[in-house]
Amino acid sequence: MKYINKRLTVEKVNFQRIAKKFGTPFYCYSFSKLRENVNKFKNNFKSFSPLICFAVKSNTNVYLIREIKKFGLGADVVSLGELMMALKAGIKPNKIVFSGVGKTFDELKFAINKKILLINAESLSEIMVINKIAKLKNKKVRVGIRLNPNTDAKTLKQISTGKKENKFGVNKNTFQKIVDFCKNSKNIDLKCLSVHIGSQILDHKPYEKMLNSVSQILGKTNHKFEFIDLGGGMGINYSDKKESLNYKKYNAAINNFLKKHKVKIIFEPGRSIIGNTGTLISRVIYIKDSGKKKFIILDAAMNDLMRPALYGAFHRTLPVIKSNKISNKTYEFVGPICESTDKFITLKKFQKLKEKDLIAICDVGAYGMSLSSNYNLRPKPIELLIKGSKINIIRKRQKHTEII
Ligand code: PLP
Repeated sequence: MKYINKRLTVEKVNFQRIAKKFGTPFYCYSFSKLRENVNKFKNNFKSFSPLICFAVKSNTNVYLIREIKKFGLGADVVSLGELMMALKAGIKPNKIVFSGVGKTFDELKFAINKKILLINAESLSEIMVINKIAKLKNKKVRVGIRLNPNTDAKTLKQISTGKKENKFGVNKNTFQKIVDFCKNSKNIDLKCLSVHIGSQILDHKPYEKMLNSVSQILGKTNHKFEFIDLGGGMGINYSDKKESLNYKKYNAAINNFLKKHKVKIIFEPGRSIIGNTGTLISRVIYIKDSGKKKFIILDAAMNDLMRPALYGAFHRTLPVIKSNKISNKTYEFVGPICESTDKFITLKKFQKLKEKDLIAICDVGAYGMSLSSNYNLRPKPIELLIKGSKINIIRKRQKHTEII
């Protein structure tokens, strides 16, 4: 995205033009950014050619998943719905892994019927259910066990998943119990050890620790794993500080690991593939002066983009048409929803805004639309994919008639 003639532009189209044609709020994705992210990700780890399974939870738009599939990626899913969506997008079952702490009997049955690559189980009870279904169907099912390595990912506590107080995965003792159970089962083919310690990770050291824990476990266990699924979690730069994960060091740590363990690596990235491809464009409905600050009341709200309300997440917020006039009042960008947490960001020295101006909320491609809801009975926004000068509608704006 850049300003051309003071207008914020994605690829070859400016947001003002899109807003005029499609109304606001809208999600808009850049295809060239998506391609760039996938290529970068592949390049970062090209020495061992991992299987890259896109974490569908980060963005469930079938058109985007289809594009991602064309780049050769598989899918990481966490529910029957996501599994069905990955299949609908054309991802082959042998490139799909299924994670999640609470897969139901029906979800597991569907996954087993589809012969997906791996069901990454997260408890002994889940393994028992998989075993039962596999027995009933007289099948041998490929599974992974998700280890909780008790590693602090040094990220927001709400998106940390690899510490012992988190519900995810199993501890070392349970891990070994499950290995022993699987070895005695005719219906389970134990193929994978999986880990995922959290999201928006910008420090490579937690990954190094995680690899050490996995290495230790592999050294102790009496089982030969074909795959190690290292999950996702690679952070992106949301701020202006140019923060980024040191992929070189992470890659070096994995290469070291691979010297000791002859396995195939799987990744489950979501945010690092799709996060910075998306922008949410919204129009200022009203401006309300409260004395100390001005509330900039947008037509987008927490139901459209939940991350700020849910985690206090930061998203760069920009004017769609640039001017040099700076406001001396603090601006608080809020939505129309009846919750005080329906607030995107508070900014000082923003350019002067007036009602009907357009605002861009950046880097919302991951956990933006996929976390959206109809709260306050607000219809979900339209999603657009930009390819050069072409604007493709990849999800229609929801109508009130669809939700009432
Ligand atoms: N894999 C699992 C099991 C997850 O829970 C998540 C999200 O937290 C991901 C992959 C994707 O993480 P991210 O979008 O941070 O890459």
